[in-house]
Amino acid sequence: MYNAIFFIIVGILIVSYIVSRYLDFLNSKSRNKNIPEELKGIYDEERYEKSQKYGKAKDRLSFISSTFMLAVILFMLFSGGFNYIKEFAASVTDNEILRALIFFGILILVSDIITLPFQWYSVFVIEEKFGFNKMTVKTFITDKLKSWLAGGIIGGILLSAVVWFYLKTGNMFWIYAWISVSLFSVFMSMFYSNLIVPLFNKQTPLEPGELRDAIKEFSDKAGFKPKNIYVIDGSKRSAKANAYFSGLGHKKRIVLYDTLINDLTTDEIVAVLAHEIGHYKKKHVAINIVSSVIQSGIMFYIFFLLVNSKELSAALGSDDISFELGLLAFGILYSPISGIISMLMNILSRRHEFEADAFACKFGQANGLISGLKKLTAKNLSNLTPHPAYVFFYYSHPTLYQRIKAMKNEQGN
Ligand SMILES: [Zn+2]
Repeated sequence: MYNAIFFIIVGILIVSYIVSRYLDFLNSKSRNKNIPEELKGIYDEERYEKSQKYGKAKDRLSFISSTFMLAVILFMLFSGGFNYIKEFAASVTDNEILRALIFFGILILVSDIITLPFQWYSVFVIEEKFGFNKMTVKTFITDKLKSWLAGGIIGGILLSAVVWFYLKTGNMFWIYAWISVSLFSVFMSMFYSNLIVPLFNKQTPLEPGELRDAIKEFSDKAGFKPKNIYVIDGSKRSAKANAYFSGLGHKKRIVLYDTLINDLTTDEIVAVLAHEIGHYKKKHVAINIVSSVIQSGIMFYIFFLLVNSKELSAALGSDDISFELGLLAFGILYSPISGIISMLMNILSRRHEFEADAFACKFGQANGLISGLKKLTAKNLSNLTPHPAYVFFYYSHPTLYQRIKAMKNEQGN
């Protein structure tokens, strides 16, 4: 214990805490910047003030909860607490797969339970106060139970497979683990809408009427079948509005939130739909899957290089090599790399958003999309002036300002 790896782990946790708090601080200050000309008129003065208060309330909560989590993890590290949990799992069973399941099951469940007050505060105090929350206490609790169950089954199967390959296939283990996790991620991206979404929401095909007619006319033109368009009851949890594209091959679908349909005009909804069809036409889902397969290959290979080193387990307080502790220590050591990868993925994702916008523009939907996005921004109390560094690290979508500018350029051509 307290070896070099131990101090590297502590260093990584503290430095990444400081970096993310600094980015939050920059972003928080950036809320008071002047609004660019193109974005004036989205909010009236009162609502703009409300959006700033909303942002600040969320910043404060994220500061408190991340500081709390850092303190808990440091306490666990310095006290050798992770080793106690490992010892406990070992006292229950000799089976290595079950030990890993118990170890990570306890860690994940306990960390979710101790952060419950923050999750609760976010929904029932902040979202409630700003008029977004539609969730009842009952939905909150059943959501929790369902996500534990679904997460337990999916995570449990994947973890068991990885441990099994580790025990049985020696040096080839990282390749088998990589292949099975990759196959699983392709399977999940195909069947996500059929298996996971129905646990939480109702999806219904678009009802006949003026909207469906307008959508059909457009989607025929753009080459997308209207039977793949669904409406989801997002209003069960939040007043915020959204839309997304998911799935591969014949499992593809565009999902519109019922809140989006209520808030936007028919022209604006068609423009949002055009953007989502753009994601489909430009094969963004497939590109994301390929890049996540490459990432997990890199990750499993580095894990394979490190997993049997005594120092990893020793850093978490164990005298002998333990798969669970090795995996946990690896997870923290790898986090700077995964931070960089997620930053790269955000760059890719923002490029995809520009491409989907450009696709909508090509079909003459620029004005509808711009006014739709403005409405969504105002409705969701989004930040008009996020800090560029914060956008660079965290934003999966370009800012509203960047999107409007790009679409106006597109229109000019
Ligand atoms: Zn998009």
